[in-house]
Amino acid sequence: MTKKWHALFWLIALVSTCLHGEGCSGSCSSARSPQSADTSLSPIHAPVIPAPDPERLVQLVRAQLQWGPRVPNTAAHDSCRVWLLAQLRGIADTVFEQPFRANVYGRTYQCTNIIARLFPEQPQRILLCAHWDSRPYADEDPVTEHRTRPVPGANDGASGVAVILELVSLLRQSPPPAVGIDVVLFDAEDMGAPSDEKMFCLGSKHFATYMPLSPRPRYGILFDMVGDRDARFPMEYNSYQAAASVVERLWRLGKLYGGGHFIDQIGGSVVDDHLPLIEAGIPTVNIIDLELVGNSSPSARRRYWHTTKDTLDNISGNTLASVARVVLALLYSDTPFPL
Ligand SMILES: [Zn+2]
Repeated sequence: MTKKWHALFWLIALVSTCLHGEGCSGSCSSARSPQSADTSLSPIHAPVIPAPDPERLVQLVRAQLQWGPRVPNTAAHDSCRVWLLAQLRGIADTVFEQPFRANVYGRTYQCTNIIARLFPEQPQRILLCAHWDSRPYADEDPVTEHRTRPVPGANDGASGVAVILELVSLLRQSPPPAVGIDVVLFDAEDMGAPSDEKMFCLGSKHFATYMPLSPRPRYGILFDMVGDRDARFPMEYNSYQAAASVVERLWRLGKLYGGGHFIDQIGGSVVDDHLPLIEAGIPTVNIIDLELVGNSSPSARRRYWHTTKDTLDNISGNTLASVARVVLALLYSDTPFPL
């Protein structure tokens, strides 16, 4: 993703005044029911919400890194594509590829969106998505010689894919009531030069243009940079504009299950894979560690966006699990479709 340069909007969200449940210190288990006076948050249909496994989540990130950066037209990209397909074929009802060519600065890249469906009989569907490619050049790296190297993409890419693989696995084992799940792993999200917005999100643009899903999902949730051990997820501005009711539900559940990572503020806007979906009529929420974009974090360790330091040592299984827990709490609630 890249930064949207026109404005930043920092507002206190009204939702913080609507919270009824007890806050979670970070140790709460997703196997417990929310202690909330708001019955719309109670998972009444499922005896327990399945619990994401932090260690497995880190393994899922590590597995994607084993071949190196997943830059299109490289062997690592192809190996990871084959691995992702195999992972999903073991747990989804339908898996297929959406190949496309991306023309970027005079070069042609063979790219592939990876699509999976669970519970195809369900007409009311939710889209879970992330990008699986890695950025070809670490152009934000403080070391000049590193700027032509690819980004390892542990957080920028692999973290969101890991959360989706874990979610799909848990949903397969314990299907939520009356919710169909569609998954898209987008390719070619991260190939644009800074501020060249049209060269980002090429996979999601292709997907939105040739929409291969019918019926279309009611709304989407995008996971991008969701694995840092000190992650902070304010509400991304475009997400709030497009799907305020979903954002508010997710962040209320985030207060209960999000391990302190979900911040009750509307943050800045980013150009990311949710925008083509929103424009195509699928309101989509981006869960993203916003202050990483542009390397504006007060923590020096966290200034690794689009650098060679986007590596596994920044990743926390607990953060990944807390993101998965929040989404599961919505999917297993008695009103998983706030819009
Ligand atoms: Zn990126």
